[in-house]
Amino acid sequence: MIRIAKSPAVPAPLGTRGARHLKKLQETQEADPAACRVADNKLLESRDGIYNDNRVKERLRADQHDKCCYCESYFSSTSYGDVEHFRPKGGYRQDAADALHKPGYYWLAYNWHNLYFACQLCNQRFKGNYFPLRNPADRAQSHADFLSDEQPLLPDPATEDPAAHLSFVDDAAQALDERGAGCIWVFGLDRPELIKRRAERLKSIKQARLLAGLDMSRPLAPAIAGFFRELKLSYADAVEMVAEAQRIWDTAALDSAEFAGMARAYFRRVAQQSQ
Ligand SMILES: [Zn+2]
Repeated sequence: MIRIAKSPAVPAPLGTRGARHLKKLQETQEADPAACRVADNKLLESRDGIYNDNRVKERLRADQHDKCCYCESYFSSTSYGDVEHFRPKGGYRQDAADALHKPGYYWLAYNWHNLYFACQLCNQRFKGNYFPLRNPADRAQSHADFLSDEQPLLPDPATEDPAAHLSFVDDAAQALDERGAGCIWVFGLDRPELIKRRAERLKSIKQARLLAGLDMSRPLAPAIAGFFRELKLSYADAVEMVAEAQRIWDTAALDSAEFAGMARAYFRRVAQQSQ
């Protein structure tokens, strides 16, 4: 999870159809607030056709460099993403022992600042309706309440830097405080299949560290020459491998790189060790 720079312009369907439906939702809530709090009621259901509009999805995917806002996995043709409501629109839970409370943050269903793009695992299997607060009594219950009274246990990646709360030790997510711990359990950042993919990425970054910067026009150190011989690489292939290592090393911590948060933590450790 890294900071995300979202486009300032609100995608068209949110400001037009979204704004019109929001007015209806607010009128429904004001007409009978108690009915909207009843379990399983569907009075404040949002219209997924509005926030799932392609213009919203494409803007989010571009802003997030085709990565999940939480686990930083790249989307691919086999892993579709979902438009994710940071504050859940339909109902919320404080923790695993909590029942689903109605209503959710219905007034943020079409709010650009509340929308991200998440992989299906982070969104559906893990985050779901969780939105834990430091003090649940501060929770906003309707569009008349102030969100600024809440102290969420999850950092909002567009307005806060998750790295202040969440780091990595090699491929393992590490909580720096209770908000980092919140990220790990709510988003499932320590799930085995994700750790395995981060481990593969870290392996290629560590290999890049050894090869990047090699001057292939000069005689190589015996260990490096032995490494290339073991791989049975031609000189031309070895030059190509070194160029690829340089590319991986130079780009691993960019916003656009998969698992950039982990790479940044690794780079910080390498820098500390070399001091
Ligand atoms: Zn994810």
